[in-house]
Amino acid sequence: KAIRSIESGLLFYSEEMNQRAKEHMRIEGELRQALLNQELLLYYQPKVSLRSGRIVGAEALLRWRHPVRGLVSPGVFIPVAEETGLILDLGSWVLEEACRQIRAWQDANLIMPPIAVNLSARQFDSKLPQRIAAVLERHQVQPEQINLEITESLLVRGAESVIAIMNELRAMGMRLSLDDFGTGYSSLAYLKKFPISTLKIDRSFVIGLPDEENDCAIARAIVTMAQQLRQEIVAEGVETPEQMNFLRELGCDQLQGYLFSQPVPAADFATMLRDGKRLALGARLPTP
Ligand code: C2E
Ligand code: MG
Ligand code: MG
Ligand code: MG
Repeated sequence: KAIRSIESGLLFYSEEMNQRAKEHMRIEGELRQALLNQELLLYYQPKVSLRSGRIVGAEALLRWRHPVRGLVSPGVFIPVAEETGLILDLGSWVLEEACRQIRAWQDANLIMPPIAVNLSARQFDSKLPQRIAAVLERHQVQPEQINLEITESLLVRGAESVIAIMNELRAMGMRLSLDDFGTGYSSLAYLKKFPISTLKIDRSFVIGLPDEENDCAIARAIVTMAQQLRQEIVAEGVETPEQMNFLRELGCDQLQGYLFSQPVPAADFATMLRDGKRLALGARLPTP
């Protein structure tokens, strides 16, 4: 009897894997088509200064307008693209599209803050600086306009070659941000080896502010460390004024989250910039 239930368990498991594999293959095929059919687009989410309340950057976030399923979130298709290698084509498209959009905005006389683009670890090879340089050149965009968001998985690889590529990107004038900070495995000692300009505190630590003691301790530790390393610090996923106040008191530089704005279509982001939309910082903190 025991054996039979193990068997049925295995059967169930492999059936589930089969379903998943099929689902992945379907998404992969459709995603390839999506690239050709121009179903992909970028949304932009502002980053605001906790000193001035002004927009000082934005993150470009990939969206897929599926003909049947509507707007599909990257949480669904990025993992599939990572697995299949399609992320390389998607990543190239994102860089190209972001630069095209920056050029169009600059041509329309908007004063553009740096725009952040997410990079997969798989995009990170020795040809990356050259490839980005070509895209910048094609669209006549300055490297200072681009902020590259990378994740800790890249650092854990720890190779000298990764550091060399980062140095090259920095030398070109681009900023490097470490995304989802605190969710990976990089240690303090590790971090100082990499030429990172900005740390982004992961949303999972912001959620519990200011009530969860552990989250407060982690946020405080991250901000203190970033200050020591002279890195700029951005908090992700800020949704409430209480979270904002806590982070501002800690000395966090920027905020990104629904409190100020969700990711929005390009035209809406341009409107926010043009109107000079600002974050309501509330009453000024007493200066000690
Ligand atoms: P991420 O780079 O950490 O991006 C931030 C995510 O947090 C975005 O989800 C954003 O919509 C969400 N977010 C921002 N503020 C809030 C908030 O206040 N509350 C909540 N609940 N969520 C908030 P999104 O757009 O679904 O993207 C998910 C992930 O997909 C990104 O996480 C990134 O890892 C990946 N991704 C998106 N676009 C690209 C891309 O072009 N290339 C690559 N390689 N990955 C991408
Ligand atoms: Mg990001
Ligand atoms: Mg992030
Ligand atoms: Mg995150």
